[in-house]
Amino acid sequence: MTFNDLQIINPILKAIELANYDTPTPVQTETIPLILEGKDILASAQTGTGKTAAFAIPILQKLYQTKDQQALRKIKALILTPTRELANQISENFTRYSRFLNLKNTAVYGGVHQRKQESILYKGIDVLIATPGRLLDLMNQNIIHLNQVEYLVIDEADMMFDMGFIKDVNKIIESVPKNRQTLLFSATISKEIEYLAKDILLSPIRIDIAPEVITLDVITQSLYIITKKQKTALLIELIKTENIASVLVFMRTKHSCNKVVQELEKAEIKAEAIHSNKSQAHRERALLNFKKGRLTVLVATDIAARGLDIKALDVVVNYDLPETPETYIHRIGRTGRAGLSGRALSFCSYEEKSLLRTIEKHIDQKLTMVDHPFSNEALTAKFIEKPKQKKVSQPRSNKPISSKPNNDKSSNKPKRYAASDKSPYKPKSNNAYSNTATSNKKSKSTWQKSTNNKPSFNQKTYNKPNHNQTNYETKNNAR
Ligand code: AMP
Repeated sequence: MTFNDLQIINPILKAIELANYDTPTPVQTETIPLILEGKDILASAQTGTGKTAAFAIPILQKLYQTKDQQALRKIKALILTPTRELANQISENFTRYSRFLNLKNTAVYGGVHQRKQESILYKGIDVLIATPGRLLDLMNQNIIHLNQVEYLVIDEADMMFDMGFIKDVNKIIESVPKNRQTLLFSATISKEIEYLAKDILLSPIRIDIAPEVITLDVITQSLYIITKKQKTALLIELIKTENIASVLVFMRTKHSCNKVVQELEKAEIKAEAIHSNKSQAHRERALLNFKKGRLTVLVATDIAARGLDIKALDVVVNYDLPETPETYIHRIGRTGRAGLSGRALSFCSYEEKSLLRTIEKHIDQKLTMVDHPFSNEALTAKFIEKPKQKKVSQPRSNKPISSKPNNDKSSNKPKRYAASDKSPYKPKSNNAYSNTATSNKKSKSTWQKSTNNKPSFNQKTYNKPNHNQTNYETKNNAR
């Protein structure tokens, strides 16, 4: 399947070629034809699957084909997304695909002064990407009117609920004409998303795309047993001795992010932090500097890093182990992308031992324990699992039970755990698509579809064979 097969018009094909996209990803193959046909969509698809292009390309195509070149620009497409970072990324995508179309887009979000956003809006735009709070603000000030909107996209709907934005989202939807095409994207489809879908979508087609499978095989996962206090010193040591050029460091708290950045700067390592206390301008600048290679280290909390699209990242460091194994996989998946191999280094203190065990159990492999300049034998020994002794039922006797001496001298030394090579992370969802890569060289991504196609949800089979779409009629189709 090529983009050409998807009936994409030439000016967009040219832009896609310049973006170096070779073949459409599964979510693109599934949704682009349906959106071009005018269908409403409920799609479970995460960031990383290519979902932005899946809605941006057909929306741009339809806008271009119906555009009156003489008329003033009016907001014809509205994309709602929960965070500023995602808003910017979506806007970049629209700009990339519309470079030969004479269609304009902009992103509006809170945390920055509204004047600049206002002046862009006054000049006229075709596509608006917005976070709900700032959009409502601008609507209340009569700066934005949504009465010409024909395409509405709710992106990351589950995150909208998590972040408490859903009331604002509903208010915004009420201001959009009912005669529109609506696309709802969510990483997971919970009951509340289904209810929302019933309210706002008209005879939608459901599409389930499993998250990007993070192929753990291409990521070297190392474990550094270390005391809490020595973690920063270890980070500095590794960056310097191994000449690491770009490293994303994950930390639990905003405060510790700032502290580590200060220490790195003292050691003459260029570093910046991104977290929710930093201004939007700071976060954008830090991200740009990091992407351009002007920073060696970007220190981030999980929330700030969610959805960030950073290519060609050498190393991810789990300075603090995450609370959930899913977060661990998400973090280390920032490396080993786009056909490159990657490294994930996890710093683990004694207090984090149980988190480590949960992660190892979840991924079904042991992280490789590495010796380092701050290794401490006593601490390391606490992480070495003693082999479980089989219980042998002894006949009752008066003799004392003698225990076998342990001849394995190596058990006192730190062990190197070999990472199993046969257990790539497999999502628990129905359709696994993996962006696999096996070599160190940059190679084109291949997207594979797994055969494990169990239907979920209250689905009826859509009329295409071997298809994981569902055309489900809602009980209440009224918008
Ligand atoms: P998204 O899931 O929309 O955040 O996209 C994730 C990344 O995949 C972005 O860097 C896109 O530029 C990239 N991407 C989207 N579609 C394709 C494609 N067909 N081929 C290669 N990369 C793509």
